[in-house]
Amino acid sequence: FRFSRRPDIGDKVRVSFEFFPPKTDEMEVRLWDTVTRLEPLKPRFVSVTYGAGGSTRERTARTVRRILNETTLTPAAHMTCVDAARHQVDAVISEFAEMGVTRFVALRGDPAAGVGTAYRPHPEGYANGAELVGALKSAGDFDISVSAYPEKHPESPDFATDIDMLKRKVDNGATRAITQFFFDNDLYERYVERARRAGIYIPIVPGILPVHNFTQVANFSSRCGALVPAWLAERFEGLENDPQTHALVASAVAAEQVHDLVERGVGDFHFYTMNRADLVFAVCHMIGIRSHESEAAGSAAA
Ligand code: FAD
Repeated sequence: FRFSRRPDIGDKVRVSFEFFPPKTDEMEVRLWDTVTRLEPLKPRFVSVTYGAGGSTRERTARTVRRILNETTLTPAAHMTCVDAARHQVDAVISEFAEMGVTRFVALRGDPAAGVGTAYRPHPEGYANGAELVGALKSAGDFDISVSAYPEKHPESPDFATDIDMLKRKVDNGATRAITQFFFDNDLYERYVERARRAGIYIPIVPGILPVHNFTQVANFSSRCGALVPAWLAERFEGLENDPQTHALVASAVAAEQVHDLVERGVGDFHFYTMNRADLVFAVCHMIGIRSHESEAAGSAAA
């Protein structure tokens, strides 16, 4: 890992941040602390996830509206096709558009019964991410991000099927793909090469997950098909009850991953923040993305 200072990096690198809509007042406070801390880093956009069921639609909409009204940030609303007829999905698109949303992250989503159960599209619904992209494209001139899976989606029988789905999303109007998180940069690079060979030229932005809790990430990874390399498990070994060291190791691991991707020519990064600012803020700082506040504090101290 090269710790050498690269003052040029911050100029080249662009970031976006992902949040989830809070369920409780306490979580709402934490989210807004996080948003306030990350806002000065001037991300290209911040996205707000969407879960199964109508209550999440309301929570996503409320969070997106607050971002529009109370910050300088540009929100991107996630949308899924789960358990909804086309006209219901179209109504949600209109609601967001009327609010002033111009960016979307279009997803099929997982079955309401949970990851691992078979996905059945709503009989009158959009069948997958590609069809939702088509609906968004015909509803307005939106910036549309879609998902990509460097280790292939668990339901894809092979990489060819997976890449074919990404190609359908691009053909229907996707602007960029954001990847599922991964820890092995070689897998990402190989996936991008596969996509390029298939004629997919949109940006494939790596999704970076700073590891707030290694045990949780390891459990979650096995469900979404992301490999947790042995070297990563070794770095966090024995830190279950040592949150401070865990956080220091996590920021070094994420910075190392991002630095390596920058060296490989990647310029855009999407951070899964888990509604927490510290690790993301530290990693952004290490790759040269600074807030005006911290620059001002630095020159005052000098
Ligand atoms: P799709 O791109 O539609 O399909 C995924 C894969 O399934 C394809 O690659 C394809 O190989 C296979 N497949 C699907 N349909 C077919 C078919 N008809 N024939 C053959 N193969 C098929 N989930 C949420 O609930 N809310 C969110 O806000 C959310 N945000 C996400 C953001 C990102 C960046 C990512 C990477 C994932 C997100 N997810 C979210 C998770 C996502 O919903 C799940 O991974 C889901 O299982 C797949 O959705 P998708 O849009 O990727 O599916």
